[in-house]
Amino acid sequence: MSQPIPSQPPAASPSAALQAALGAATPLLWCNPGRVETPPGEQAAGARSISLADVMSAQARFRRFAPLLARLFPELAGTQGVIESELVAAPAMQRSLGLDPALGRLFVKGDHGLPVAGSIKARGGIHEVLEFAEGLALRHGLIGPGRDRPEDYLALGEPAARALFGRYRVAVGSTGNLGLSIGVMASALGFRAAVHMSADAKEWKKARLRDRGVEVVEHAGDYEEAVAAGRRQAQQDAFAYFVDDERSLSLLLGYSAAALHLREQLSAAAIQVDAAHPLFVYLPCGVGGAPAGITFGLRQLFGPHVHCFFAEPVQSPCFLVQMMAGKGNPSVYDFGLTNRTEADGLAVPRASELAAAVMAPLLSGVFTVADETLFAHLALLLQAEGLRIEPSAAAGFSGPRMLCESDAGRDYLARHGLAGRMPQATHLVWTTGGLFVPPAEYDGFLARAAALAR
Ligand SMILES: *Cc1c(COP(=O)(O)O)cnc(C)c1O
Repeated sequence: MSQPIPSQPPAASPSAALQAALGAATPLLWCNPGRVETPPGEQAAGARSISLADVMSAQARFRRFAPLLARLFPELAGTQGVIESELVAAPAMQRSLGLDPALGRLFVKGDHGLPVAGSIKARGGIHEVLEFAEGLALRHGLIGPGRDRPEDYLALGEPAARALFGRYRVAVGSTGNLGLSIGVMASALGFRAAVHMSADAKEWKKARLRDRGVEVVEHAGDYEEAVAAGRRQAQQDAFAYFVDDERSLSLLLGYSAAALHLREQLSAAAIQVDAAHPLFVYLPCGVGGAPAGITFGLRQLFGPHVHCFFAEPVQSPCFLVQMMAGKGNPSVYDFGLTNRTEADGLAVPRASELAAAVMAPLLSGVFTVADETLFAHLALLLQAEGLRIEPSAAAGFSGPRMLCESDAGRDYLARHGLAGRMPQATHLVWTTGGLFVPPAEYDGFLARAAALAR
């Protein structure tokens, strides 16, 4: 007689089911029980507190530097030094994804095409380098009261400023894209620049930096180790400035300025955001600074009507485990996960505690994506919309159906009274990198997608 087959014990609680999916690296959606409808006007962020005024001052800093940036980077001449990306409707991608039009309309925010850095890191990374340069220039009297108009900032491209900047080294630890953004901007201003790269970093990203005279320090370890090594080295040098991706408020606020520009773009496209027209935003997440900055800005502008979800690889859901824990600073390795993913921009084992603290009352949720899905969506996006992105940048595309079709997502929509509003909803997938991916590398992504589809 055969043994009776024991049935699977039912999961003890939704959170036990979630834990099981997490450990098994199965795609899942977690919704944040701590989200408040109307965000506080001011929020603690590390040593200080931040508000909409800080978002606006980051935007003002970009504006002050715009004429100088236009001079330093020929590709910015057409926008007078503004580094921004397109908002585009993606109806063909919506069909390819099988997202029912009765559930809203799909748009893409194309940070994969951001000039100078080729990724979302153009926002935070460049902002922090500009803030550091501005502080030095103020202290040395190169700019100041009465000399603080954007035209005056052209002086920061002149020999006196370059000689000053050349005494300093700007350093950063990175899986690739942050290094590109910091390295390129720092060296353009005349700083020496050193980028500590993790083992995940792609060869072409290192080569691009070396071509620009940036020192690339290769590490055998992961992102966390690259950051720690860079931080240690910078501490021993009084003329070193370390951009700390795990702790930096300047990075976070640089990203947040995107919200102000997006508000203008939505309004120009006649896309309403209010109680009857919810906005859902899906943001690829590594350490959390970029998506947290943008979410902070958007929640300040749109309050309860914007719903931000972070997307992470199934093997690197560091923000998810951080938000679920609510305290401490857990690593994905603690959950038996490998932190191995082709999404190099998202290959981070431990979240930024700063970003997580800011997100506690603001974030709607986090979902995870398998690498196969990243490649499939990367290829679909080329076919459907002609957009070329890197794997990390594809992480958001499973968000809309995850939200509309999973139990956790349906529950979120029901609890927020959104189920009946979905025909008027906007789903905005943030594509975060890709502009500088070499063609041969990109063909490799397509080949991966084709092989997986077979
Ligand atoms: C860095 C990066 C992200 C996420 O930014 P974090 O600040 O690390 O969360 C997303 N996509 C790409 C392509 C990136 O390079």
